[in-house]
Amino acid sequence: MRIVFIGPPGAGKGTQCKRISDRFHLPHISSGEMLRAGKDETPLGRLIASFIDNGHLAPDDVVMQFIVDRLGRDDCENGYLFDGFPRTLNQAEMLDVLLAGREQKVDLVLNLVAEEQVLIQRLLDRAKIEHRLDDTPEGIAERLRIFRSRTEPVLGFYHRQGLVQDADALQGPDDVFADICAVLSAYES
Ligand code: AMP
Repeated sequence: MRIVFIGPPGAGKGTQCKRISDRFHLPHISSGEMLRAGKDETPLGRLIASFIDNGHLAPDDVVMQFIVDRLGRDDCENGYLFDGFPRTLNQAEMLDVLLAGREQKVDLVLNLVAEEQVLIQRLLDRAKIEHRLDDTPEGIAERLRIFRSRTEPVLGFYHRQGLVQDADALQGPDDVFADICAVLSAYES
């Protein structure tokens, strides 16, 4: 099963993806983790850092290169779970083309839904613990703005394909996970 997981910053995507990946034996492909790991002292690494440390999206072609490389690994043969990808309409369209070339498609899109005020508070709390450079009040506001302007169209794209299932991210993490498991179990059976 090839799953796209969409949710605004702070909705708990990372936590849920780890649990789904374990329960359903799907490789967890986080574009944010891959990009952060690519922030090194090479010119490409410095370019990546210049975007993500300011809360901006990395360029689509850079992200796609990481994705293409990752999908080439053996563990992706029977499906995977994308976390944070695709984040722009252009990425979603490029993914469809890439998959069509392999006679594959996205099977399901999970969408975590939450109010912005709750998300902002959660991200500020996380900033105290994780010290991520992009978890400043300005960085948070910018990532939420980008989510609305760049990633919500991705949801529209998948809605038109009838692939989206919503989950309420304002519940506790166990309840969110239970809802997601119900969706995935129904899909599998
Ligand atoms: P995340 O860990 O998913 O919150 O991503 C952290 C940061 O990495 C984002 O704020 C972006 O700067 C960058 N990033 C992650 N995924 C993407 C993507 N699919 N396209 C562009 N930039 C991304």
